[in-house]
Amino acid sequence: MSEVNLTMFDLSDAEKRVRDLARELGEKVVRPEARKNDAERIFNRDVLRQLGAASLVGGPIKKCYEGLELGQRAQALIYEELGKIDSSVRGFLAVQTGLVASCIQEWASEEIKQRWLADMCRVDAIGCYCLTEEHAGSDVAAMATRARKDGDNWVINGKKIWITNGNVADVALVFAQADPELKHKGITAFCLPTSTVGFRAEKMESPELGHRGADHARIYFEDMVVPDSARMGEVGDGFKVAMSALDCGRLGVAAGAVGVHAACLEACIDFTRRRRQFGKRLGDQQMIQKTLADMHTSLEAARLLTMKAASLKDAGHQATKEVSTAKLYATEAAAEAAHAAILLHGGRGYNNDYPLERYYRDIVGLEIYEGSSNIQRLIIARDLLGRDQGQVLEEGK
Ligand SMILES: Cc1cc2nc3c(=O)[nH]c(=O)nc-3n(C[C@H](O)[C@H](O)[C@H](O)COP(=O)(O)OP(=O)(O)OC[C@H]3O[C@@H](n4cnc5c(N)ncnc54)[C@H](O)[C@@H]3O)c2cc1C
Repeated sequence: MSEVNLTMFDLSDAEKRVRDLARELGEKVVRPEARKNDAERIFNRDVLRQLGAASLVGGPIKKCYEGLELGQRAQALIYEELGKIDSSVRGFLAVQTGLVASCIQEWASEEIKQRWLADMCRVDAIGCYCLTEEHAGSDVAAMATRARKDGDNWVINGKKIWITNGNVADVALVFAQADPELKHKGITAFCLPTSTVGFRAEKMESPELGHRGADHARIYFEDMVVPDSARMGEVGDGFKVAMSALDCGRLGVAAGAVGVHAACLEACIDFTRRRRQFGKRLGDQQMIQKTLADMHTSLEAARLLTMKAASLKDAGHQATKEVSTAKLYATEAAAEAAHAAILLHGGRGYNNDYPLERYYRDIVGLEIYEGSSNIQRLIIARDLLGRDQGQVLEEGK
């Protein structure tokens, strides 16, 4: 890795332009609606359409499909800016663009790309990514949804839970088991319109801890017939398809967490400059300074890990361990920062006059989805240890 030229510290002019656009739209379009959407559990399509109209949704998608053809670093900057304001909107983008559109671009037929990608960039079509099941979360290979070949078609039966955008989606990526004996090597991926007969979505009614401006669904497939042309990759490639999407998706989660973390720090600096107790600014108390300095240091580390992983991917390197490292560290550091920020604001941090309590609730979701923190630890440790070669330890060597 040492030969890779990581220009992590300087953003290119193009990267700065895209960051500034995301910052401007975040302030103008996303922020005014964020509190209400969270409080009233509103999936605000109008906000998302405005991001689409400003070309901010098709980041990594090729220009011929109306995307911006951005690299992972530039895309991470968009996620960070939106994550600073609203994780529901940043999460929508991570699913729409990072999981569904990117996966279609990489794995689907030209016909499917033509059908969906430009519409998705404009948010004229919404996508969802149907992987998780009641009894198959971290353990994807345990999925019970079945795909049975029937002539030129497949018949899919099963159910999924926690599917972001599930009730509002026009297109779904569906992962189903074609050969249970093969475990993860039997999983097969399909891309299909949600208008397909046998596809049914149902809102998850219990209020979520966070991401309350997002849509979450249970999805049912009841004798759903899809043509073989809906398949993405070969039969049995589904696990590979799912994981290739998650490699980019997790980077988006890491960058979103950096945004949450940065927002917490900015709020704390502003507050401790203004709030006076014991005859001086709160910020002039040494214990408060420790909180600010620690929050700043972990934010810098999280951002560097995220940019390192993005830079490696942009340079064409496999960066699964680096992406997992960034996701693990950035989400856990942001969760600590959100907790510290609430305490530092005292009673003011405890209601929704400030967005801190929303950050505090939202950030937990980032620690869970697209592979929980423990799953990132497993990925990192497996890479460090390598496969068991049956070596026996020889003492003293
Ligand atoms: C807001 C939100 C949005 C989501 N959106 C989507 C979506 O769009 N599409 C989709 O498919 N899914 C989605 N999910 C589901 C999400 O990906 C899963 O919740 C996640 O993968 C964890 O699976 P699980 O909930 O079944 O937990 P489990 O897998 O049951 O894990 C429970 C706990 O056990 C730990 N654990 C599990 N296995 C191990 C192990 N081997 N070693 C150590 N610890 C372990 C986990 O870290 C976790 O803490 C979403 C979830 C949330 C909260």
